[in-house]
Amino acid sequence: MFSNTEIGIDLGTANILIYAKNKGIILNEPSVVAVDTTTNQVVAVGNEAKEMIGKTPRNIVPIRPLKDGVIADFDMTTQMLKAFLKKVSKKAGVSMRKPSVVVCTPSGSTAVERRAIDNAVKNFGAKEVHLIEEPVAAAIGADLPVAEPTASMIVDIGGGTSEVGIISFGGVVASRSVRVGGDHMDEEIIQYIKRHYNVLIGESSAEKIKMEIGYALVEHSEEEMDVRGRDLVTGLPKVVSIRSTEIQRSIKEVLESILHAITETLESCPPELSGDIVDQGITITGGGSLLKGMQEWLSNEVNVPVHLAQNPLESVAIGTGRSLKMIQKLQKAVK
Ligand code: ADP
Ligand code: MG
Repeated sequence: MFSNTEIGIDLGTANILIYAKNKGIILNEPSVVAVDTTTNQVVAVGNEAKEMIGKTPRNIVPIRPLKDGVIADFDMTTQMLKAFLKKVSKKAGVSMRKPSVVVCTPSGSTAVERRAIDNAVKNFGAKEVHLIEEPVAAAIGADLPVAEPTASMIVDIGGGTSEVGIISFGGVVASRSVRVGGDHMDEEIIQYIKRHYNVLIGESSAEKIKMEIGYALVEHSEEEMDVRGRDLVTGLPKVVSIRSTEIQRSIKEVLESILHAITETLESCPPELSGDIVDQGITITGGGSLLKGMQEWLSNEVNVPVHLAQNPLESVAIGTGRSLKMIQKLQKAVK
């Protein structure tokens, strides 16, 4: 008997990952498409398209169709998804004959958007398509005991959204989704440098600054970094030196919004389960959890131990791929 390929897709706002059973992660690329506006054709996707951000001729525009945590550009999202599926079926040697697919969509997506994603994957030839809730996928991928009668709490800090969930017995007991994440930190960094230095920097530079000298609201020994941009007064290139404490100040509000989502979820947790969370702690995942000092800051703020997931950038994809068995079992139980 040949078994069908089982595939999990993490349709993230910043990155798309595809996981295949027995193979692991077979694709990990930014959620970006480059479109030629004269013909309205997609000319590149993923890494190739991201390279083009801020550097392309006027008629080639890079689009991030999922940027704000919703499927802002629906047609582009499906085109991008198809291009990636085609790519892995060629490259990774994964048989794409009637695969069973589980897709993790941003929880801000509407029923109509979900159905369209479902269709796009089915059009590709999938035998069955399931959609999974983000916190469940993240928790499975982070190896939390989701099926047990004990509560697990997961916080997934992505690019456009952050998702907080408390899971017990395989289901979501309490959750919050806020439209703030790493992308907003980048935007705040751009604004800060513009306001204080009259220098305009690009998105990629802002992200690099965040990763290198960005800190959550913890004490640390100050670091400095040279940043290149365009002087808004003279119009000429300029280099300015930025301190980590300035970056920290600029992203403070974004961090506080994420914290607020966490405390609200804790407050809405059934009291019987609160004890579990105090014992087990909270697990953080997603690219934003990699910000320096994040774990320390959150555990100070909520007074509960905070653990960093093993592969923060991959846990949703891994969990999505692993969830198929669980979904099929649950479906059988319902029937
Ligand atoms: P999504 O699930 O929304 O696609 P990801 O979980 O892939 O998002 O996380 C992407 C976000 O994480 C981006 O904003 C990126 O800048 C940020 N990020 C990735 N690595 C780091 C790091 N080392 N420090 C801080 N932020 C990071
Ligand atoms: Mg994600």
